[in-house]
Amino acid sequence: MNNQDILDILELTLKLLELHDENEFKIRNLGFAIRALDKTTEDLNALSLSELSALPSVGKSIAAKIVEIREKGTSDEFNTLLAKTPEGILEMFQIKGIGAKKVRTIWQELNITDTRELLLACENGAISKLKGFGDKIQETIKESIRYNQSNIGKLRMEKGEEIADLLIDFLEKSFPDVQAVGDIRRKNEVVERIQIVVGHPAPWEVQQYLNAWEALQQDEKASSPFCWRGQLENVAIPIEIICCKPEEFVNKCFIYSASEAHLAHKANGNTLYKTVNSRAFSSEEAIYETVQIPYIVPEMREGTFEFEWVKTHKNEELITWDALKGILHNHSTYSDGKHTLAEMANYCRELGFEYLGIADHSKTASYAGGLSEERIFEQHTEIDQLNAAYAQLTDRPFKILKGIESDILGDGSLDYSNDILKTFDYIVASVHQNLKMTQEKAMSRLIPAIENPYTTILGHPTGRLLLSREGYPIDHKKVIDACAANGVIIEINASPYRLDLSWRWIQYALEKGVKLSINPDAHKKEGYFDMHYGVAVARKGGLTKDMTFNALNLEEMEAFLKKRK
Ligand SMILES: [Zn+2]
Ligand SMILES: [Zn+2]
Repeated sequence: MNNQDILDILELTLKLLELHDENEFKIRNLGFAIRALDKTTEDLNALSLSELSALPSVGKSIAAKIVEIREKGTSDEFNTLLAKTPEGILEMFQIKGIGAKKVRTIWQELNITDTRELLLACENGAISKLKGFGDKIQETIKESIRYNQSNIGKLRMEKGEEIADLLIDFLEKSFPDVQAVGDIRRKNEVVERIQIVVGHPAPWEVQQYLNAWEALQQDEKASSPFCWRGQLENVAIPIEIICCKPEEFVNKCFIYSASEAHLAHKANGNTLYKTVNSRAFSSEEAIYETVQIPYIVPEMREGTFEFEWVKTHKNEELITWDALKGILHNHSTYSDGKHTLAEMANYCRELGFEYLGIADHSKTASYAGGLSEERIFEQHTEIDQLNAAYAQLTDRPFKILKGIESDILGDGSLDYSNDILKTFDYIVASVHQNLKMTQEKAMSRLIPAIENPYTTILGHPTGRLLLSREGYPIDHKKVIDACAANGVIIEINASPYRLDLSWRWIQYALEKGVKLSINPDAHKKEGYFDMHYGVAVARKGGLTKDMTFNALNLEEMEAFLKKRK
């Protein structure tokens, strides 16, 4: 069990304690401990009972619980609570806008034990009449249930890739030609199906091999001799393994990778689909060559802008991980990050980058340890010291840039005075609070923030959390136009939970001359690797190196920021 697995059980225990109205003192202590443990950099598996007890907010009884969980994968308390909870109630914990206490009220007062009944009760108005609920909460519950329902059977990209890799590793042990296709290969931010093509002369051998793995459950009705369909244990989305002869491998990979719109594209009088089916190809390059279209990278094959794009660009112009020279928008222990400023910076340097742009939360974000003016001063002093030390290292340049992720307030202003704002090298302006708003309201916050002369980057423009929270509605064109007019860069927040700005708007931003920054929003060192997802969707949207803000090297970045000031 890793830290997260242990925390997941503790968190669910906490919710169940609240649901069953257990001892208030116990609930509060567990809540404090979970918040502290969520931030710890210690490996909870490696600590002894006494070391665990010594962790902040933990204490003896919770330490013992952690030991129990890591040994048994569960705890007696958790099992007892679970045993007296109707199954559907657990599902109700997924609803945004109501905590365990409200779930308890719904259960106790109306005897509702699953989300279907709850939705009905919302529709006939029974929920709004409950004490402490009202129309607004009823509406929120209804929207959240509908949203959750529409996301059943989907996974975010990072989870989808993890599962595809697992299957590929398994298949590659026995078969040489294996390729992920579909959503995975096109780098879609949300994956609905995992599809893998295997080239092998005897398809039944592939199926036998798959069925020998206990974790895989074949859906025999849906399968055919050439296509294994089924599920992988604990994975919510369908899996499809397509078997073909080795000589058809390239063709099949191509057909299953591209979207229908891409395949329907006509060139040389035929659709791509027809061309591919006309004969066996030895490479995907050869397919495009036949119809005299320059090679299109798999992630772009959506049938939107890519045929135009390749007419005027070379694929080598696309952004890559190696072209990134620095990392902007990161958090440290000054606000809600897990690692210290020095740890974040050293690791960034170790990975070969030339600068780290720290951007902790600003003072309004008190829930995330947002920085007061004094704390900013302290951080800047530490940055100066660290930078002085880095300047002594002569092998290559490295510097920490002073940034902040400043909250965009209700009226569109940033939450420090200009005297403070001007002390930063760069500012990421983001909306974090009161996310439920109309497009009109959202625009009345975003536009002044973009027009603020201190704003360098607009952070996660819609605030969406994939498969969990819809972003607030914005007029993308107007936001991008305003960024163009004010020289503001737009973030592609690379967290696989966000991937916001969506790749669908990259071309419009580039048309308007707006640069994009691939920012991991790292809250711990390993968070930097989220830039892989950011790079993937950026390439999908056709982002070039020269329009990527953090492809600037340190010297260029400093010159840019100085000029902008
Ligand atoms: Zn943020
Ligand atoms: Zn952030």
